[in-house]
Amino acid sequence: MSPFDADVIVIGGGPSGVAAAIEMRKRGAGRVTLLDREPALGGATRHCSHSPFGMLEFGRVYFGAAYGRKLEREAATAGVDIRTGHSVVRLEEGGAVTVTSGRGVETLRASRILVTTGAREKPRSARLLSGDRPIGVVTTGTLQAYIAFHGLVPFRRPLIVGSELVSLSAVLTCLTHGARPVAMIEPRSHALARAPLNWFPTLVGVPFHRSTDIVDIIGRDRVEAVTIRRNGELETLACDGVLLTGQFTPESALFLQSSIGVDTGSDGPAVDQYGRARDPLHFAAGNVLRAVETGGWAYREGRAIGRSLAADIGRDPEAVQPVAVSFDDPVKLVVPNILRRAASLPAAFRDFQLRFLRRAKGRLSLELEGREVWHASGTWMPERRVLVPIPAAAPQAQHVHFRFREES
Ligand SMILES: Cc1cc2nc3c(=O)[nH]c(=O)nc-3n(C[C@H](O)[C@H](O)[C@H](O)COP(=O)(O)OP(=O)(O)OC[C@H]3O[C@@H](n4cnc5c(N)ncnc54)[C@H](O)[C@@H]3O)c2cc1C
Repeated sequence: MSPFDADVIVIGGGPSGVAAAIEMRKRGAGRVTLLDREPALGGATRHCSHSPFGMLEFGRVYFGAAYGRKLEREAATAGVDIRTGHSVVRLEEGGAVTVTSGRGVETLRASRILVTTGAREKPRSARLLSGDRPIGVVTTGTLQAYIAFHGLVPFRRPLIVGSELVSLSAVLTCLTHGARPVAMIEPRSHALARAPLNWFPTLVGVPFHRSTDIVDIIGRDRVEAVTIRRNGELETLACDGVLLTGQFTPESALFLQSSIGVDTGSDGPAVDQYGRARDPLHFAAGNVLRAVETGGWAYREGRAIGRSLAADIGRDPEAVQPVAVSFDDPVKLVVPNILRRAASLPAAFRDFQLRFLRRAKGRLSLELEGREVWHASGTWMPERRVLVPIPAAAPQAQHVHFRFREES
């Protein structure tokens, strides 16, 4: 009798976990068990009341909730063993996980574990925002969950903090549910979302203040006003809520508690070109690797890592020591973060994905064993995806480094 409850346990039923589970089933994996703590699959897309989702993977545009239901149907059709209402509370040694559910606490074992637990926006506590503690200070994800699952809009005139893609989703969510933001603010001198998308707030009549940050929240029970610092000057802005958008961090608590740990750049688990973590029984995919990408990106990444993982089932776990991909400041992170000597598995990543910490002008280059093999110059923007093809020789190298030379 097999010592395993499943060939693969997937933790997280968002786009990346579902895509990986379906791909593994298509490639002959026997039992693929998909665990999610929520009552339905779909992950963060479930509470998005807007489109676009699903164009590339399903050939049509879905609203978030419908996309989530589509994912659940596809997983069921592929024969994935779906267990919603199951929270994984611990990664154990040797491919076991501790799970809590309505049935109590149990330990499940599998030949491989895939973690696809997504990412979350930084809440008030982690942003160290001072002031009163009234209700009405929420993230975009929380606002959308209030609306989608409880029909609640917690404010009518919120201030929106941040200017990432998700901040535009926040503006749209407010406007389509009867709330009119008083302003959108961004501490940097430029928006984080690309033009022309970042013109959206202004086009719909929401003032967008750059070089502005929030200093204080005022209000006894509900938010009544905020103090902002705009171009160095303090001013008070009346509003009834604060919407904290973006600044996503990977949901990597399971890795942090385990001996696997997380990468200091991405805050997610370090993975190699197959999506395999430092412990070769564990894989990871989607936003847990490097918050944050679109739903479609997470889906395609999950599918690619599912393909590598399916080929790895039944093999002896590789004992090869990985080589870390290093980088200069102001590069924030690189995924894959480690490389292993090429194995007979299909690679999941064709490109290194990089992000910058801040806006920087200069020359970015990739070195293998100290020899430059790629370079590009330009102005690099924070939190924007940069893709660099992974050279065929990279997995054999002992020194893989991204060098940055700043230019004025
Ligand atoms: C507010 C908001 C708006 C967005 N708007 C868009 C948009 O318009 N278009 C677009 O393409 N993308 C959008 N996105 C991004 C998109 O939703 C994500 O990129 C995508 O959902 C990421 O997929 P994922 O599989 O990596 O993780 P997620 O979708 O986050 O799924 C992770 C899953 O893991 C589960 N989980 C976590 N921890 C555990 C645990 N310990 N045990 C069991 N289950 C666990 C969670 O319940 C969740 O279901 C938006 C995201 C947000 C937050």
